[in-house]
Amino acid sequence: MSEQEARANQDLTASEHSDDPVLDRSLRPDHFADFVGQEQIKSNLRVFVEAARQRNEPIDHTLFCGPPGLGKTTLALILASERGVTLHSASGPAIEHKGQLAALLTKLEPNDVLFIDEIHRLNATVEENLYTAVEDFRIDIVNGDGPYAQTLQLPLVPFTLVGATTRTGLLTNPMRSRFGYVARLDYYPDDALRLIIERSAGLLGLSLAKEAGHELARRSRGTPRIANRLLRRARDFAQVLSDGKLDGSTAREALERLDVDEAGLDQMDRRYLTVIIDHYDGGPVGIETLAAALSEPRDTLEDVYEPYLLQRGLLARTARGRVATRHAFEHLGKKQPTGTQSGLF
Ligand code: ADP
Repeated sequence: MSEQEARANQDLTASEHSDDPVLDRSLRPDHFADFVGQEQIKSNLRVFVEAARQRNEPIDHTLFCGPPGLGKTTLALILASERGVTLHSASGPAIEHKGQLAALLTKLEPNDVLFIDEIHRLNATVEENLYTAVEDFRIDIVNGDGPYAQTLQLPLVPFTLVGATTRTGLLTNPMRSRFGYVARLDYYPDDALRLIIERSAGLLGLSLAKEAGHELARRSRGTPRIANRLLRRARDFAQVLSDGKLDGSTAREALERLDVDEAGLDQMDRRYLTVIIDHYDGGPVGIETLAAALSEPRDTLEDVYEPYLLQRGLLARTARGRVATRHAFEHLGKKQPTGTQSGLF
């Protein structure tokens, strides 16, 4: 593996926000049949893969959007394996200059999949070079400087670009328009998460009671990666504190010890809402202020924490800032002040 590949892979792993990348990979489905939920996206992708196979062409360039842990990387892997080609992975910020992009592109075999995670974080020069690569399957290399500069056109084999981004809003319009299919992944309902947990338990050789699967699914923030993580931690508790079998009460105890509450909110979710409620009377409060108060980058708040709190109706976004809703006050057992903006929600 070249130094650059190693770096791209390393970057990809870091961006997975995973506490156990090896296990994460072993639980990752590589065929549509094992990928739970997201039915409409899955059935469209099956058609695109089949059509591409019949024509012996690459699958059209595809963009996956959605919060971390919902299966964007997994779908890229599935596309490559169902099409019978190799997946090459890189991460937007790791491709620092055009040469690195050219190195990635020139090692592709016909119809291969190039997966770029966090594609919204590519720098402008690399992004512009990617346009000609995905449209005309060529890359321009400039040789020399100033008036003696020569542009060489390097032909590329036809390939599929699969991009992943946590927020489509951050992607430039020209980049977005290069994708033939844009799929938005949603949080998973509890029954889909339960199936994922049961499948993972099977792969881990863990005996899982129905009630435990249900409890873990309900408190996984709608996110398969979190479901798998909670399952692995609960397995530790079952192994050490009980007879190795994961039953309902061991699962509940594990969740309590991991500080995951009844609604599936973790410590950080509750801290976020508590700061808005205790320090700013429920809001509105600007995102930059919150980022400073919580010592977290604004991007992390916007990508990781807010989407779920918004979806659960615990948080509202207004023109003047973030507001904790009535549900948030109730959930945290706080008294709602009268006459504040949050009283409206
Ligand atoms: P993302 O790229 O969106 O951050 P990943 O594709 O890395 O998310 O998914 C995180 C983990 O969750 C994977 O290791 C995989 O095991 C699991 N996973 C995600 N989506 C599904 C799904 N629909 N069915 C089964 N497992 C899933």
